[in-house]
Amino acid sequence: MQVEPTETQALVQRTARDFATRVVAPLAATIDATAALPDELLAGLAGLGLMAVNVPTDLGGSGAGAVAYALAVEEIASACASTAVAMSVTNMVGETLARFGRGALASRFCPRLAGGGHGLGAFALSEPGAGSDAGALRTVARRDGASWVIDGAKQWISGGPQADVFVVWARTRPPETGVRGLSCFVVERGAPGLAVGKPEDKMGLRGSSTVPLEFAACRVPEGALLGAENEGFKIAMAALDGGRIGIAAQAIGIARAALRESLEYAQARRTFGVPIAQHQAIQHKLADMGTLIDAAHLLCMRAAWHKDRGEAFTREASMAKVFASEAAVRVCNEAVQIHGGYGYIREFAAERHLRDARVTTIYEGTSEIQRIVIARGLLE
Ligand SMILES: Cc1cc2nc3c(=O)[nH]c(=O)nc-3n(C[C@H](O)[C@H](O)[C@H](O)COP(=O)(O)OP(=O)(O)OC[C@H]3O[C@@H](n4cnc5c(N)ncnc54)[C@H](O)[C@@H]3O)c2cc1C
Repeated sequence: MQVEPTETQALVQRTARDFATRVVAPLAATIDATAALPDELLAGLAGLGLMAVNVPTDLGGSGAGAVAYALAVEEIASACASTAVAMSVTNMVGETLARFGRGALASRFCPRLAGGGHGLGAFALSEPGAGSDAGALRTVARRDGASWVIDGAKQWISGGPQADVFVVWARTRPPETGVRGLSCFVVERGAPGLAVGKPEDKMGLRGSSTVPLEFAACRVPEGALLGAENEGFKIAMAALDGGRIGIAAQAIGIARAALRESLEYAQARRTFGVPIAQHQAIQHKLADMGTLIDAAHLLCMRAAWHKDRGEAFTREASMAKVFASEAAVRVCNEAVQIHGGYGYIREFAAERHLRDARVTTIYEGTSEIQRIVIARGLLE
């Protein structure tokens, strides 16, 4: 496996790091406090090619690959995890459209998502009664002349209020067909019958709006079907494999911020006449935090590297996701501990990092589901 980034990958990483440091980081506390992502920030990401890092250039993307994408997400997440969610879901939707959109859908929507100014991409798989178990989803789509008509409800849709394009999974065969009866559709903002609900009041990632969606006889054209009818589950799994690399990178970015701030704090804060960084108990925490982050980064790079080579990477992506997300929760928890009482108040970012990191073990497949995927791969 190649360990050093190529020139292109390093360029994408530097671009993301510069934007993260100059523009995103100074806004992160306000984004968390106000639960709002400024449109200019999203437009800035798009302007730098960061909304479509792994989308081909002829569709308006950067065409820089999965390693470059992971490096970029890490940088943005280390400044603001909410911003990184908007970036990673939009990238995931763009990639899915590029891969399965067969010309018309891809050429219509990818440049819009990549270019900014229109809005985000949203990924609408989960439902109130179906998260881990996608085969249980109840939203239905039926043909009506030259249209599809969608009815049902989605839950937990990141970026819904600012989305321009939703990829939506619905049942096109009876419930007993499970995951073999799902199809995927592209629904534009403002489609008749689509209602975007009120954002959830979340523990973390407060700048990223998470909303329910309601589809009431929502009519979309025949051509809105993404991929083949009843083959939607494969599209969801392909998208989530790539998405898990993004969540791993996001977790690593958050953890890196927590470590960076812990290092600074541990050298500044004094107890018993010395900086707390000189106490061995604190040094051990810092050592473990650094080791977890580096291990997570290497797992993430390995998954992305396989993806860039066109090789199977499902198991590697799940390993990266479960390890990085659990590492991030541990690292952020230790960061709060190192900050003592100051770790528990809003004035320091440590508590935000812990709140933001917590969901990474849950969304895009919980840790329990990742372990099922990994074990299945090992047992094959
Ligand atoms: C902030 C946030 C943003 C999200 N964004 C999106 C989004 O943009 N698009 C989208 O489609 N979804 C999104 N989700 C949904 C997310 O992917 C689901 O919450 C997640 O997949 C878990 O589903 P669930 O909440 O229904 O939990 P459940 O599936 O009900 O699981 C509950 C618990 O049971 C465990 N469990 C379930 N099945 C098994 C099993 N077979 N073996 C062992 N344990 C099991 C789970 O691991 C979990 O611990 C988001 C969620 C959150 C919180």
